Amino acid sequence: MSLEVDHLTGGYTQIPVLKDLTFTVPDQTVVGLIGLNGAGKSTTIKHIIGILTPQKGQIRLNQVTLEQAPETYRKALAFVPETPILYPTLTLREHIELTIMAYDLDTKQAWQKAGDLLARFRLAKRLDWFPANFSKGMQQKVMIVCAFIVPAQLYIIDEPFTGLDPLAIRDLLAVIKQQKARGASVLMSTHVLATAQQYADQFILLNAGKIQAQGTLTQLAQQFNVENGSLDQIYFKMIGEAQS
Ligand code: ATP
Repeated sequence: MSLEVDHLTGGYTQIPVLKDLTFTVPDQTVVGLIGLNGAGKSTTIKHIIGILTPQKGQIRLNQVTLEQAPETYRKALAFVPETPILYPTLTLREHIELTIMAYDLDTKQAWQKAGDLLARFRLAKRLDWFPANFSKGMQQKVMIVCAFIVPAQLYIIDEPFTGLDPLAIRDLLAVIKQQKARGASVLMSTHVLATAQQYADQFILLNAGKIQAQGTLTQLAQQFNVENGSLDQIYFKMIGEAQS
């Protein structure tokens, strides 16, 4: 089991945003984290990556909490934020070098992977450019390249599909598939339900900081009585039930 979130209550102040979340992201599984604006998706991710500390409950990655084994925990995790975080004075090459240093990666292997990813995302000719001046989508691709050179157990991607062009989305999905085949797992938060439906194995439906439902599309369709339902249909039904 790659990620285990166990009765997590947390948020930014004494008043919790997340209320008693329990879910797992098994190895070799892509899990979609779905919810309306403000449902708590980013807050959940912030807890998993360690920006926020749980008020109650535990988060374990490969059986350890961040507190128990910070290095093991951090090395098992790579994160692509919704808004790219880039250093204005570093080139693309230097961003990759920084990732290699931060994760203590084997330089040769990491550059080999970086070469493949840079070619795939059409950034190979831009190694000596400053990504801070790139378009939003290109900046996102830089974050994707930096995350996927890390041989992580879990990749967390916050809103992967907004801002990327269709070719880049296709390429990202191919990379996710490759990583899954390697045994890694992916947790992605998204509003793009049609794509999530196609590429995620399981879903967590968040509503007002609580898990309203979780499971495969078939399980959710059964639970919400929407036979052969799409994720959109299931989701609207869930929102309807939650508000009534
Ligand atoms: P979106 O789809 O809009 O990105 P989300 O599901 O990621 O939404 P969160 O960003 O996790 O939602 O927000 C959940 C709740 O936490 C909201 O009520 C929000 O106002 C609150 N919140 C988010 N960031 C902060 C912060 N830095 N300080 C205090 N409250 C915050």
